[in-house]
Amino acid sequence: MFNETFIQSPIKFLEAMIGTLQSPDALSDYNQFWESEGINISTAVDRAGTPWIKKYDLHGRQIDEIVYPPDYWRMLRQGYQAGTVWRAFSNSLRDAYQFGYLTSFYDTGLYCPYTVSLATAAAVDKYASGEIRDTALHHLLNEFGANWQGATWMTEIGGGSDLGASVKTRATLIDPERNLWHLNGEKYFSSNANADIAVVAARPEGSREGVRGLALFLVPRQREDGTLNVTLRRMKDKIGTRSVPTGEIELNNSEAYLLGEASHGIYLIMEVLNLSRVCNNVGSIALAHRAFLDAYHFAANRQIFGKRLIDQPLMRRQFETRCHDLKRGFCMAWETVKLLEEIWKEPAPHYSDRFHYFRLITHLAKYWTAEFAVQTAKWAMEVNGGQGTLAEFGVERWLREAMIVNIWEGPPHRQMLDGLEVMERKRAHETLFAELGNYADPADLEAIQARIEALLALPQDQREAEIGDLFPFLANWTADLLLKKYEGEKIAI
Ligand SMILES: Cc1cc2nc3c(=O)[nH]c(=O)nc-3n(C[C@H](O)[C@H](O)[C@H](O)COP(=O)(O)OP(=O)(O)OC[C@H]3O[C@@H](n4cnc5c(N)ncnc54)[C@H](O)[C@@H]3O)c2cc1C
Repeated sequence: MFNETFIQSPIKFLEAMIGTLQSPDALSDYNQFWESEGINISTAVDRAGTPWIKKYDLHGRQIDEIVYPPDYWRMLRQGYQAGTVWRAFSNSLRDAYQFGYLTSFYDTGLYCPYTVSLATAAAVDKYASGEIRDTALHHLLNEFGANWQGATWMTEIGGGSDLGASVKTRATLIDPERNLWHLNGEKYFSSNANADIAVVAARPEGSREGVRGLALFLVPRQREDGTLNVTLRRMKDKIGTRSVPTGEIELNNSEAYLLGEASHGIYLIMEVLNLSRVCNNVGSIALAHRAFLDAYHFAANRQIFGKRLIDQPLMRRQFETRCHDLKRGFCMAWETVKLLEEIWKEPAPHYSDRFHYFRLITHLAKYWTAEFAVQTAKWAMEVNGGQGTLAEFGVERWLREAMIVNIWEGPPHRQMLDGLEVMERKRAHETLFAELGNYADPADLEAIQARIEALLALPQDQREAEIGDLFPFLANWTADLLLKKYEGEKIAI
């Protein structure tokens, strides 16, 4: 049976799943903002479509400002002020992710600016040095809503999966004393395109081909002389997530600072992605929860064949099953938050077994939670019948947003193949069995161990072809075990 009270608000759901919340008063204030104003602002931003770029100011200087209505900026600043980013550093990642859950419940696209700002701050904290580190952290972690925004720009026109082949942006060392470089190239999918500072993948001149030749750079929006350092070619006209501006960025002798060691670049890029994927996991469950609740409100009020729709046996069963899955998905997403908290300060490239276990669970969770968001958003439309297809009621929006959540940060195939790699090369599945095996049926455990080992023994092509059958099964099994693990003990924050 699903408990009708516990799904009524994101805070009640978090309390039910986690137990004692961190910063409950601030969470409640943030929720109040959404209920009183945020929902309407967010709906208007989605309906308005793609924002436009104001290219020049009155004096003909290039400014590339993204033009949203003033309410948008107020909505955006609320989340920064509430603590979607700074709480990760002044309190805990888990605290920040609670605010992320609330954000995504109301506006999944808006969680992107906070996600990429958090990922930028984490990279700066670990790998920047000197004055640029102090300045960037000081501004990124401002607690009063006047903070800098970050961004994570890797993808180029050639594609996001195979960065080793597609990243053509070149980095030239200009001043070794000051670690100052110039970048030249184009970034094809750049979310938070108006960010004050971004982490950007580029290839230092003379470095090797492929993914090992990539490095990660910190790129401010303004040059040291105050002029624009990166320019915005155009905005992406997206089906959803319109609360984050995504555009194409041009880098023309753009000033940049190398993060960490150039030869460790790919590790740094993966760290940035891992952190965003955890946000994606939490955000996907929040999105599914929102769609579920919209379905619930309709079904609890619609009279069909003499009963409320929700009291029809078939519909009630579907609500019960999906509520159970919502809890499973939350446990999976929250497990990635907890594991990230354990490993996020580990320096590249010497990672612990725990880090590799985190990666496996994160690939499983990214795959499972985003797919669940898509399926739940589709189901919510169906429950709403014809009205679910009408833009004025907003249910269709969750499907548009869910399709993006499923693709960015790596589509399902990438999660499967990267999950396969961490099992192949790091044997991360052994930690999974050691961690969760106690909650499994012994015969099931043995069968799945055998299935993975059989898959790993296959030739490479066959292994890749067959991971598509195994991975969904493994993700589903892991979600089951995590719910069992947390059901008794509640998730300790
Ligand atoms: C709204 C939006 C915002 C974005 N914002 C950013 C951003 O801020 N920064 C950034 O860097 N990127 C961003 N991206 C890009 C995103 O990360 C990429 O879209 C994603 O990584 C996939 O890359 P691709 O679209 O180029 O697809 P491709 O890499 O061309 O892949 C195409 C398909 O092939 C599949 N595939 C790949 N390899 C294999 C294989 N070996 N076997 C089988 N199938 C495979 C993929 O899963 C995918 O389904 C954004 C994307 C969107 C939609």
